[in-house]
Amino acid sequence: MKINGACQCGNITIEGEADPESVRICHCTDCQTNSGAAFRFNVPVPGNTFRMTGKPTIYIKTTAESGRPRAQAFCPTCGTPIYTTSPGEGQQASYMVRAGILAQRDQLMPRLQIWFRSARSWATGLDAIPKVEKQS
Ligand SMILES: [Zn+2]
Ligand SMILES: [Zn+2]
Repeated sequence: MKINGACQCGNITIEGEADPESVRICHCTDCQTNSGAAFRFNVPVPGNTFRMTGKPTIYIKTTAESGRPRAQAFCPTCGTPIYTTSPGEGQQASYMVRAGILAQRDQLMPRLQIWFRSARSWATGLDAIPKVEKQS
């Protein structure tokens, strides 16, 4: 399916093709730190379909929990995480896009949870936590 999205301030927009069956939650500690949240929700986008406007800041995480260096892109103005990919110049083979920035996020259901060993213990039982429709 076609996907498109933007950071919070709109300086960076992306579009591409993504397979809805490949949406994942990542519970790794790098995703927790980098997002400031309990887990991240990602979809891979092949490099040959990936288009972007604007220029993200790239941070190379050399000691990612996976053991591989990862280039993490975020908006330098609003800080929204955009994607991670392999480090290097030019187009990469694949971009792991942060699905929360996408206009299609309602249609993207996670199919797999990875790095589950570092999941926050409460993160898989959100239904048990009392809810209000807006803020309390
Ligand atoms: Zn921004
Ligand atoms: Zn992760």
